[in-house]
Amino acid sequence: MPASTYVVLAIFISFGLLELARSSLFSKKEQTRDDGIVEIISTVMLLVFTQPTIVVFVDYALSATRPEWRGMLSDLNIFAAIGLFLILDDMMQYWQHRASHSFAWLYNMHRAHHNARYMSVRLVYRNNIFYYALMPSIWFSAMLVYMGLGWVYAGYVVVKQLVIIGAHSDVAWDKPLLKIKWLSVDCR
Ligand SMILES: [Zn+2]
Repeated sequence: MPASTYVVLAIFISFGLLELARSSLFSKKEQTRDDGIVEIISTVMLLVFTQPTIVVFVDYALSATRPEWRGMLSDLNIFAAIGLFLILDDMMQYWQHRASHSFAWLYNMHRAHHNARYMSVRLVYRNNIFYYALMPSIWFSAMLVYMGLGWVYAGYVVVKQLVIIGAHSDVAWDKPLLKIKWLSVDCR
């Protein structure tokens, strides 16, 4: 397992422990038995099967069809490399998410993420299995890794997951930040 995966797991577990201590990780208000089942299956599927399988499959498929692409971007400037991940990973995720809220048939693959009655790190990877299997960001990132940007992805994915995990947690870790005037946006 790459070192970045251990860091992401450590962030996930740390926020989980924070919720365990502060906001009843395993007994959220209004949770049902099905919530826990959906969360365990979708989280384990993504982390253990879907994402690693896409990375291995893309590596295998490109080795067979485009062997000259392997490592072709390894000398790329780091800012250009981060730019590629922002466009092909982050922006693609934005459009997939936006499309999932715009088309009813796509929302079927995303409903599980929004039908919980609570916020928690438990929701971070809670989605239909096909939502992740068809996630353009994962496929594009796997291609960039094949092309030699694995070293950039390792840092990028840690920052990205820190933001995503922090955003779903119901522990108000950001409360002190909101007291800083120049950091809080007035939306009126
Ligand atoms: Zn959504």
